[in-house]
Amino acid sequence: MSGIGKGVTTASIAKLFQFRGFTVSIMKIDPYINIDPGTMNPIEHGECFITEEVWKYQPVDTFDQVFNIAEIDQDFGTYERFIGKNIHPSHNLTSGQVFIEIILKERQGEYLGKTVQIIPHATDTIKERIERIAINEQLDVLLIECGGTVGDLESQIFLEAFRQMCLDHPENTCLVHVTLVPFNEMVGELKTKPTQHSVRQLQTAGLQPDIIMCRSSIFLDDHSRRKISLFCNVPPNCVISNPNVETVYEIPLIFEDQGLGDTISDILNLKPRLVEFSPVENYSEWKKLVRDYKQHESILRIVMPGKYTKNRDSYVSINEALKHAAASHGVGIDINWLDTEDINNLDQLANYDGVLLTPGFGHRGVEGMIAAADRAMESKLPFLGICFGAQLMFVAFCRRHLNRNEANSTEINPETPDPVISMMENQREVENLGGTMRLGAHEIILVSGTKIHDAYQTNVIKERFRHRYHISPRYATMCEEHGLIVSSRDVSEKIINSIELDDNDHFCVGVQFHPEYKSRPWKPSPIYSEFIRACLKIRRDRK
Ligand code: GLN
Repeated sequence: MSGIGKGVTTASIAKLFQFRGFTVSIMKIDPYINIDPGTMNPIEHGECFITEEVWKYQPVDTFDQVFNIAEIDQDFGTYERFIGKNIHPSHNLTSGQVFIEIILKERQGEYLGKTVQIIPHATDTIKERIERIAINEQLDVLLIECGGTVGDLESQIFLEAFRQMCLDHPENTCLVHVTLVPFNEMVGELKTKPTQHSVRQLQTAGLQPDIIMCRSSIFLDDHSRRKISLFCNVPPNCVISNPNVETVYEIPLIFEDQGLGDTISDILNLKPRLVEFSPVENYSEWKKLVRDYKQHESILRIVMPGKYTKNRDSYVSINEALKHAAASHGVGIDINWLDTEDINNLDQLANYDGVLLTPGFGHRGVEGMIAAADRAMESKLPFLGICFGAQLMFVAFCRRHLNRNEANSTEINPETPDPVISMMENQREVENLGGTMRLGAHEIILVSGTKIHDAYQTNVIKERFRHRYHISPRYATMCEEHGLIVSSRDVSEKIINSIELDDNDHFCVGVQFHPEYKSRPWKPSPIYSEFIRACLKIRRDRK
């Protein structure tokens, strides 16, 4: 089943290797034909994660075609948050990339005299890509997550490549199958039949799993474990329970309790090493971190007005960044989505401790988002606007304080008399939409004495971007007379990277970048942390 938690499972197994002193990294295979997920709708596919680096992907040397890849599957966010390493975009392999490489190589003459076929040409391309990463990055273990489900036509070539890799390296491969074990409410028990069938499907592809990872709402009981072991041809200690939990960061500990770290190291013939102290790689430190996550006295209520309110995964990095920041202040967090297509909802804002205005594209729900920013500014609710959210905060400010009622972003209204958000200069000649936004991490110069400078406590930071439009410097200058502060710019000084209100008693900040992508459970994003501090303050003041 898709959306079953393969990303968290993969990242959690990677942690078990880190606890044993091994150098790990993770790859994700996405069997869809897109080159990357950048053009996909977040409602369908969840959030698009942005990597630190932009990969100039040239499928074949002799063809000039280069694709910029920094827009990546959301599982990369989970990987980075668990293992604390930036993962290079070349770790996201799609069918689109496999096919384009083979087709261009065929035109180049690489396969001269041969019929180009899925086996061995596509499978060799997949294996080469995997092996190159494992060798170039000098890894002890490379984890590869295969998206989709067993039995999908699309994922078959990847499973076939895995079969060949297991044959080539029998001592160095371990296959983990993640499967749903549903709880049948009517009879009050876990059902193993779907697992038996999916393992059989896998076996018809020539793959025998070493570990069966059972996703279920509750812990696996002994009876189910024995049954799965017998029918699926693995020892009972290789049937692992992967239940629903309060915080996903607990999963590595749950695996460790079942001996999975040792079992899997034995399968791969790896002998544990001594681990130097680190908040990321020490088992005991991770255990403390999970304990802190679960212990909190009060819960902050944050509202996120926007349009992608139906799929919680659309903003998974933001949700996690809020949780990291809240945990570091010893509070829990309750995130509420507010659909801004219905503007009448806005009176509810007063019930929350803070407003986070979300990133996004297109006009749907935008007037409601602008109105939400205006309401937060007027009623002094703590406010954090991210990317589109910052742009719309600026629109709201211009409408109210410059008296320009039709101020807008040209993305929303190309005919607006006041284009306060407009397309960046170098975006104007862009014709194709895939991988052409301003992407990846860029340096940001902070203005001292601002809230953002106080948060980061340094003059230069590096954060990740994904946008085509920006705040117009001309309108920003006009707004500065009315209490708006431009608090950071890019190195060329042409792009405004953040704005805030000049108000000591109100935290109201908009950032053009996405600080959530670099937030880690043990190291929250500084600006999210300050936002949470402001929310806590208002909660106390109200009492
Ligand atoms: N649509 C806006 C832009 O392209 C904001 C993008 C975003 O929120 N990531 O600039």
